[in-house]
Amino acid sequence: MKHMYDIEQIRKDFPILERQVYGKPLVYLDNGATTQKPRQVVDAMSEEYYSVNANVHRGVHFLSQQATELHEASRETVRRFIHARSTNEIVFTRGTTESINLLASSFGEAFMKEGDEVILSVMEHHSNIVPWQLLASRRGIVIRVIPMNDRGELLIDEYRKLFSERTKMVSVAHVSNVLGTVNPVKELIAYAHSQGVPVLVDGAQSIPHMPVDVQQLDADFYVFSGHKVYGPTGVGVLYGKEEWLDRLPPYQGGGEMIQSVSFQKTTFNELPFKFEAGTPDYIGTTGLARALDYVSSLGMDQIAAYEQELTAYATRRLMEVSGMRILGTADAKGSVISFLVGNIHHFDMGTLLDRLGIAVRTGHHCAQPLMQRLGVEGTVRASFGLYNTKEEIDLLVAGVERVSRMF
Ligand code: PMP
Repeated sequence: MKHMYDIEQIRKDFPILERQVYGKPLVYLDNGATTQKPRQVVDAMSEEYYSVNANVHRGVHFLSQQATELHEASRETVRRFIHARSTNEIVFTRGTTESINLLASSFGEAFMKEGDEVILSVMEHHSNIVPWQLLASRRGIVIRVIPMNDRGELLIDEYRKLFSERTKMVSVAHVSNVLGTVNPVKELIAYAHSQGVPVLVDGAQSIPHMPVDVQQLDADFYVFSGHKVYGPTGVGVLYGKEEWLDRLPPYQGGGEMIQSVSFQKTTFNELPFKFEAGTPDYIGTTGLARALDYVSSLGMDQIAAYEQELTAYATRRLMEVSGMRILGTADAKGSVISFLVGNIHHFDMGTLLDRLGIAVRTGHHCAQPLMQRLGVEGTVRASFGLYNTKEEIDLLVAGVERVSRMF
């Protein structure tokens, strides 16, 4: 049986939530950008630095073996968390951005030539646009874009029409970091597969908020960042089906990723090490594993249910503010609310909320093509995490009302 979701107890695990800014209690609503860290994560990392630290995979000595065991156990924790078949399918990277660059580069080299096409969506983060554009300039590939309706939902019929015999890859966000839309990735994947095309899912905004099962989705590739799921910065994951990863060339060269090196011929290491050149962030992977343990102990279902309730409450309360416009009103929505009030500039709203101790994001959220589609320059974005409360949402709404009155 699951434990009750004890928010007071949970908040005690995150020391930063006790902070004051400008003499006001911090209301941290920028979880889409990064999440705060529980003691369990930071303590495990300092403990490893203090008592285990040694480089992994190469050493015969005790500490190196212990560090290697911890690092590889973290890989198993990630495997279990997303329900991959094998740890060979879990590649550690620096984060979502590096995972996508790795894949675009490596997949592009092996499987794409001039005129081949990749399908993205209009709501992608720059991280899932620019790597493909770099590939476009290097190899002459073509980017096609799935449009959306005014509620922020992808148009599935239009998506199907984008496929051609030149389509080699689909790469879409599971959850939009601006609109909060939860895209029907299972359906998108099933259709792509019926056309013989693999799919990369950008899970940066889904992994922290809902249970994810890569086998159930049948995703070919799934990527995410540790820091958005209560883990440390600088570590992330590329999941790839083994049959794909096996066929892809290495991304970077260096130590760890080789089997043997000579000036005549170098052979590469087996999966997943083939993609992990250089000393990995083995302390970071411990932090990530403890973060995944943390959310698992609360239960991803429970986190999802709690955040859904918060988001519904916040949506209802924010709509009480006169002149409120919420951007992104999809039926399936994650814990992100983008909004604008009257003609108050998003930057002014964010700056004034900040003076009240309320941390929100403003601007284009690294999704300028989406801003163009919405016809706005930017938005104010409140994004919730597992530790936020209705009281904090009341403070946000009161803050927004107060700022509105000033204009
Ligand atoms: N994709 C999405 C949907 C995101 O929200 C983000 C982070 N804002 C990224 C990719 C990039 O993540 P990172 O900066 O951790 O690599």
